Amino acid sequence: MGPMEVQASLLRIMLTRPINVLTLLLLDALIWLQRSDIVDFHNRIQDIPPQFIYDVYDFVVVGGGSSGAVMAARLSEVCDWNVLLLEAGPDESYLSDIPYLFPALQRSQMDWKYRTVPNSHYCQGMENHQCAWPRGKIEGLKYCLKLAQTPALQQLNITFIYDAIPEATCAQEKGDSFYECLIRHFSQTIYHPVGTTAMGPKTDPMAVVDARLRVHGIEGLRVVDAGIMPTIVTGNTNGPSIMIAEKTADMVKAEFLPILLERTITKECNTYNYLYN
Ligand SMILES: Cc1cc2nc3c(=O)[nH]c(=O)nc-3n(C[C@H](O)[C@H](O)[C@H](O)COP(=O)(O)OP(=O)(O)OC[C@H]3O[C@@H](n4cnc5c(N)ncnc54)[C@H](O)[C@@H]3O)c2cc1C
Repeated sequence: MGPMEVQASLLRIMLTRPINVLTLLLLDALIWLQRSDIVDFHNRIQDIPPQFIYDVYDFVVVGGGSSGAVMAARLSEVCDWNVLLLEAGPDESYLSDIPYLFPALQRSQMDWKYRTVPNSHYCQGMENHQCAWPRGKIEGLKYCLKLAQTPALQQLNITFIYDAIPEATCAQEKGDSFYECLIRHFSQTIYHPVGTTAMGPKTDPMAVVDARLRVHGIEGLRVVDAGIMPTIVTGNTNGPSIMIAEKTADMVKAEFLPILLERTITKECNTYNYLYN
């Protein structure tokens, strides 16, 4: 991220977070004073010629997200292997090292500003009928409203705030149509897309990877991320994505460590002694 984008992020933070400009300038100054390494140009990412990549690295991991970062970390445990972790986009802003500031970096260049295509059935309450990933079920909503009527929650005065719904948006609807209207206009996503490269047997026309996450028909390529889930898990997806990477790193080690050990080994790692299978 260039200086202009950093300035733009700073401005967004000043406008969107309830902390004053002075605190921000202080934070900025502290970063320059205490962590000059993270703002120093020479320590930021540099362009590397592609031939260098082929000569030097044993594994290339594309994408430094939840699974990619774990894959790279686990494979690097074998000290004879050089692992390259490639992440898309320009260099990140040093502001991303401050967890508190992350909301201000959302919907900036940092998160690529992804939106769904306009749709006439969902995201109706959003600008241009576009939002992130639509979800929600009528039965779930009805159940929540029923739950709100239980003595335990009534003690806490749990109330559905109908006033928050703009006049006339769903007012004409009755019964299930009312709930459906609410969901179409006001449902939120928690950003859990999965299954774009589902795991399955070669005979399955929708399957992309096998049970060891190797892409069918392409040697030396694995997909290791939330995309391989054949169906979505019932909970959040970050933990399962990390687990997928942990398991696959072990499978890769089980496959390639014996080959490495047959060759002359230049260094001795403790990790050689583990049993990966
Ligand atoms: C706003 C938001 C909030 C979330 N909150 C939660 C939560 O609270 N709890 C939870 O469990 N899950 C949460 N999730 C879901 C969780 O982040 C994902 O399930 C998880 O990150 C999936 O991991 P992944 O490795 O499959 O993909 P990602 O973590 O998305 O990693 C993919 C990486 O690949 C990079 N990339 C893409 N294309 C290329 C390319 N061509 N070259 C190089 N790099 C590339 C991307 O930049 C990215 O870094 C949230 C998701 C979002 C978007």
